[in-house]
Amino acid sequence: MAKQADLEKLTTLTRPHRDMINVMPLQTGSILTEAARRVLVEFGDGYSICDFCQGRLVDIANPPVRQFVNEMLPEFLGADVATLTYGARDGVFMVMHSLTKPGDVVVVDGNRHYSTAVAAERAGTELVVVPNSGYPEYTVDAEGFADVLRERRASLVILTYPDGRFGNLVDAERVGEIAQTVGVPYLVNGAYSVGRMPVHMKELSADFLVGSGHKSMASAGPSGVLGMRDKWQEVVLRRSALHKTKEIECLGCTVRGVTLATLMASFPTVVERVTHWEEQVSKAQWFSEAMESLGFTQLGEKPHRHDIMVFETPALFEISQRVRERGFYLYKEMESRGIWGLKPGQTKALEMSTFAATQEQLTQVVDAFQSILEKYR
Ligand SMILES: *Cc1c(COP(=O)(O)O)cnc(C)c1O
Repeated sequence: MAKQADLEKLTTLTRPHRDMINVMPLQTGSILTEAARRVLVEFGDGYSICDFCQGRLVDIANPPVRQFVNEMLPEFLGADVATLTYGARDGVFMVMHSLTKPGDVVVVDGNRHYSTAVAAERAGTELVVVPNSGYPEYTVDAEGFADVLRERRASLVILTYPDGRFGNLVDAERVGEIAQTVGVPYLVNGAYSVGRMPVHMKELSADFLVGSGHKSMASAGPSGVLGMRDKWQEVVLRRSALHKTKEIECLGCTVRGVTLATLMASFPTVVERVTHWEEQVSKAQWFSEAMESLGFTQLGEKPHRHDIMVFETPALFEISQRVRERGFYLYKEMESRGIWGLKPGQTKALEMSTFAATQEQLTQVVDAFQSILEKYR
């Protein structure tokens, strides 16, 4: 058995960086709203959402899960039908697993998330990649999907929109037209878009749209959403023969507690915030230019159209070669300036997000980099 002192540590966990300026791509879209913070305690107990469940999570009337899932989510996603998942990866897997057989081909962009590749391994499908353009923009041309689909018979097309490293936005509507022309179902992975920017499944000619609650919808996690066209309901949401109320693909139930409560409590704010996406893009572009004026290089599309970006920072790497802390000096210097979210140890290339920071805070971030460069000159 563990030592008493070690056990006690578990009861007094704290999170030291919670109130700092946060630029960590994973975290900026999931900072809870005040409403979500309140329901966090209200629904903290396990299975707390299930008081009035009659066998199906998505049919619970109080709290209004049914209305949320059957009315609000489909409208928000531009879908006919929506359901709840544990996260973006689960949505991708559910669709892949129910639409393909082992050995089938799934066509995917060259900037796909690792979880898409792992989903393919689990489902036994072969990923065929539409390559990116390589350094420095790493863009994926929508027409590349047509080339691949001409050569390979595919069961599913998946587009990462945007990808999680460069924040590049492929012409998703064009990919949808191409997929529709060859009659292959099309899934848009919106882990970094649904809840940040307007995304409408049908306007992209997509069959599926996946979102992540704990990445972009101001929710605790794991939680996610999956929108689809009507015709896929009987495939992806098919029921168990043994337990007629339960769906097979999600093993009968999904986010049955506090994660769903926070997803719902933040939803009005999320619906509202996507209408301010232009302001987010302006902030991101301002930040990219300011970082480049310090001598860093933004990789990915320029001008940039998303808050996720990555910078090449050779001057910061060069410093790491001659200081005692090696690469760790950078995150310590930033932390001491009230800025959180750089990966400890990393100095060569920095992945950042401008979504949660105000313009003033972004100025502070740029000033921090400048003062670090000067300090170690
Ligand atoms: C973060 C991310 C995921 C995984 O999201 P989860 O909700 O944690 O499963 C999947 N795809 C992309 C593109 C991502 O950026």
